Amino acid sequence: MSFRVSPAWWPVLVLASPVIVPWLLIRNHRFGEERTGVAHLNRERIGRAEPLEMPELDFLDMTVLVESKAEQGFMGDAGVSYLFKTELGSMLYDVGFGPARPALTHNAAKLGFDLNQVDALAISHLHADHIGGIQAQRSRQVTVPDELMPAEPKPCFLPEKAEARGFNVELVGGPRLLSAGIASTGPLARSLFILGYMEEQALLARVKDKGLVVFTGCGHPTIETILEMARHLSDEPLYAVGGGLHLPVTGGRGNRAGIQFQTIMGTGKPPWERVTDEDLSRTIATINAAGAKKVYLSGHDSCDHSLERMKRELKGEVEVLRAGRMLQI
Ligand SMILES: [Zn+2]
Ligand SMILES: [Zn+2]
Repeated sequence: MSFRVSPAWWPVLVLASPVIVPWLLIRNHRFGEERTGVAHLNRERIGRAEPLEMPELDFLDMTVLVESKAEQGFMGDAGVSYLFKTELGSMLYDVGFGPARPALTHNAAKLGFDLNQVDALAISHLHADHIGGIQAQRSRQVTVPDELMPAEPKPCFLPEKAEARGFNVELVGGPRLLSAGIASTGPLARSLFILGYMEEQALLARVKDKGLVVFTGCGHPTIETILEMARHLSDEPLYAVGGGLHLPVTGGRGNRAGIQFQTIMGTGKPPWERVTDEDLSRTIATINAAGAKKVYLSGHDSCDHSLERMKRELKGEVEVLRAGRMLQI
């Protein structure tokens, strides 16, 4: 088990402890209240969700633009950007670290991709690895590399209020069809200890002769909550689950300056508690119970230990997503 904060930082933490410790105690109190509020809000949203009219798609193709693992010649990065194509159009889901890091631009150039080719952009949630970098997260501004910008503004579907220069922002208030025959679960909430309250939307599609496909960004609201919402929106049998599940059990991706930010910041637990093998077992049991025949795992927010256990223990066919890969879902 690795240190989540390198011992080089420990003297700094000890010196700062008169400030950090009271802050942690106060924050922990609020965090407990927020968690209860969020659970109640999600339950209420799921309770009032009505079955959603979704077209039956002949096909759903996916190109992985950004992922932490990559095919040869493509660049890996601990972010997410997936391109979905159906007979009704195409939609980009998330933009990784955008222009802040080279992966999206590099991989898009290799695939000959820009945003003129899509009908819309959908953002799962407003974290740096999905909306275009740390500055984009701070300023709540979806940021896309200039090279990829569409000539005409396209819709940008957001789960929370933010700006998106060059796009027509549409705030997704609840479950609805977005574009290309692909729907959204609508925002589902989570309280994160350090990052605070947040909303995330997962994508849903109904594919002919297969069933329901569910794709998450980081999976912060938990896969239990996301799949429960999906069940209320469609009685179609679950075919595939894909995307991030946020399971950095033995370590995080994209560590910086000796700090494993993913194991501390996005877990839905206080910083002194880790994501454990028991959490991972619960996720595996949930996906197995839901009957997913295919699972497309994102490595961007889960460690290799988690990916290996899921490959072994999930009943469905498992594929770990790699940048540059094109899939027929
Ligand atoms: Zn993420
Ligand atoms: Zn996130």
